[in-house]
Amino acid sequence: MDFANEYTLTIDGAAVDTATRIDVVNPATGKAFATAPCAGQAELDRAVDAAKRALPGWKALGWEGRRELLIKAAKAIEPHLDQFTALFVAEQGRPSALAKGEVQMGAWWLKSVARQELPNEIVEDSETRQVVVKHEPIGVVAAIVPWNFPFLLAMWKIAPALLAGNTMVLKPSPYTPLCSLKLAELWRDILPAGVYNVISGDDALGPLMTAHPGFAKISFTGSTATGKRVMEAASRDLKRITLELGGNDAAIVLPDVDVAEVAPKLFFGSFYNTAQVCIATKRMYIHDDIYDAMRDAFHQLAREAVVGDGSQQGVQYGPVQNRAQYDRVRGLIDGAREEGLTLLEGAAVPEGDGYFIPITLVDNPPEDAAVVTEEAFGPVLPLLRFSTIDEVVARANDCDYGLAGAVWSKDIDQAVAVADRIETGTVWINDNFQNGPHIPFAGAKQSGFGVENGLDGLREFTFPKVIFIPKTPG
Ligand code: NAD
Repeated sequence: MDFANEYTLTIDGAAVDTATRIDVVNPATGKAFATAPCAGQAELDRAVDAAKRALPGWKALGWEGRRELLIKAAKAIEPHLDQFTALFVAEQGRPSALAKGEVQMGAWWLKSVARQELPNEIVEDSETRQVVVKHEPIGVVAAIVPWNFPFLLAMWKIAPALLAGNTMVLKPSPYTPLCSLKLAELWRDILPAGVYNVISGDDALGPLMTAHPGFAKISFTGSTATGKRVMEAASRDLKRITLELGGNDAAIVLPDVDVAEVAPKLFFGSFYNTAQVCIATKRMYIHDDIYDAMRDAFHQLAREAVVGDGSQQGVQYGPVQNRAQYDRVRGLIDGAREEGLTLLEGAAVPEGDGYFIPITLVDNPPEDAAVVTEEAFGPVLPLLRFSTIDEVVARANDCDYGLAGAVWSKDIDQAVAVADRIETGTVWINDNFQNGPHIPFAGAKQSGFGVENGLDGLREFTFPKVIFIPKTPG
């Protein structure tokens, strides 16, 4: 497959082009380097129609038949790892080694999920009857994906939805459409026509999808604000929904930690992917006794951080992914400066038109500052002092989001006791970012609706169909 050729939609197993196209910008240069198709209602209708027609055949393959094809699809990625990586770096901005990690993990994730199954359950087996619960596919799924993890987060939807017997129309973010378009092109010869369709477009396409009556379910990952719009649109014909939304995750660092040892891990948990991670630490609560030492260690790490073009050797942190996000993060930093807050800036960033922002720490801002209350989703982090566990738990929980969080301590029992009090879907102890195909991932409060991953996530792409089977002929 040629990665340098034109990028096309995949509908009904074939390439489709559009009359207009959208620019795809490399965030390290601020310049467009490719164009992607701009699908509208006509292409959407064709894709939904193809997915609908493909449903009976795909369902009839059964779990085993679908598993085989999905594993084949996952294996097909491996020979193209370097090409996907280069394209990922160009459109998303992530440093090369880390971009490669996401592509590899995406392929592995698909293979791992493909091995799962929801067998029929016999919930009653009495003298007169057997009651069987079957996990049936829902229908055609709309998958809507953001730009921060364009490969992996797509796979979190593709793998369980298709394994369970649904067909799909996926829409990547307008900022990062290219890897998704190429992946669908790669699979044209592997998956039956219409099972997996990919359409890229501009801001108008998402609302067209959520309004389309042909979808039975929407699986959405993105911001909480958009998630609410998706839920509203889905209500019109009661589409099923799974929403993975924003977060403002707190890490709570207790006074017994070894500052030198944990500071790099905490820093990674905050700034990996230039802090554009839904489950990154976005509020760092540090106990009074170690606050100064931790702040200084953080500042040193920020000064040493290598920020630059992800295609260059040695770069650890890439640019902010797009201009709108760059302006938002810059606005938060400028606002903090205008409020008179103390900013600790990291290493200088490349000059030019790339969307680079130096890693910026905010030294103990008030709890109601915008840098604390808003999800920054970029390289600015508030460091916040606390003195008692009750106080820090209350502050961490005083938040509309509830995605994830972390507790750091040498005393695991104490850390577990604190973790039990944190109102989020996931809590790590002395760690961050851990998840897996077998582990349910769900946001509490306004961080989500429903579950991804694990058998709970797989179940969300099915509905329970109950069959009552009499033991004697009627
Ligand atoms: P976004 O909500 O702006 O966009 C997400 C996707 O929705 C894009 O494909 C976009 O084109 C589409 N979209 C935009 N408006 C739409 C509408 N009205 N109807 C339907 N679709 C629409 O989010 P983003 O800026 O791409 O991503 C960043 C956000 O995503 C952050 O808040 C982050 O925390 C969140 N996120 C959450 C998770 C999670 O698993 N919980 C993972 C990654 C990112």
